[in-house]
Amino acid sequence: MNKEMRNIINNLTQDIISLFDIQIPITNMIDVVTKLGGIVIESDEIGLYSDGYIEKNLSKSIQSDYNFTIVIPSNQSDNRQNFTIAHELGHLFLHMGYYIDEELWLSDNNMSFNRMGHSETELQANEFAAALLMPKKEYKKILDKNTVGNTAYTSKIAEYFHVSVDAASNRGKWLGYLAW
Ligand SMILES: [Zn+2]
Repeated sequence: MNKEMRNIINNLTQDIISLFDIQIPITNMIDVVTKLGGIVIESDEIGLYSDGYIEKNLSKSIQSDYNFTIVIPSNQSDNRQNFTIAHELGHLFLHMGYYIDEELWLSDNNMSFNRMGHSETELQANEFAAALLMPKKEYKKILDKNTVGNTAYTSKIAEYFHVSVDAASNRGKWLGYLAW
């Protein structure tokens, strides 16, 4: 993913946070999905072949009143589930066109995504997830609060944003605040 795409994704998450009045840190990702018109389902089986799944519900009469369904493995930790849901929301906006490209959203294209592999779409969805859960400005503020001398306490940052330590640490590296 190039720098321009990274910037586009980070700006888009800012717009979504403002538009849907999402409070940072996000303490309950399922509430965010509800606000966006979707539903989250936990499944024991999905973990066998995928870390997460999203599908459009175009014909509401068949499925439900929800515009989209996200399925997450029930055995993931809460922090992991938050990131998985945020990742699937990345597919929703970036690759399914939700709220952004009505023609794409209403078409039969990109009806569903599985979370697996390292394709460009997967990387974009991961960037979206990191930017939604840890917006740059808030990240810097919390990083500064939890830095003593040259040591950044990434576990404290992770705790604040309800993400894994790996996710918090990677975000700091991509933003250029932490050394690789
Ligand atoms: Zn994915």
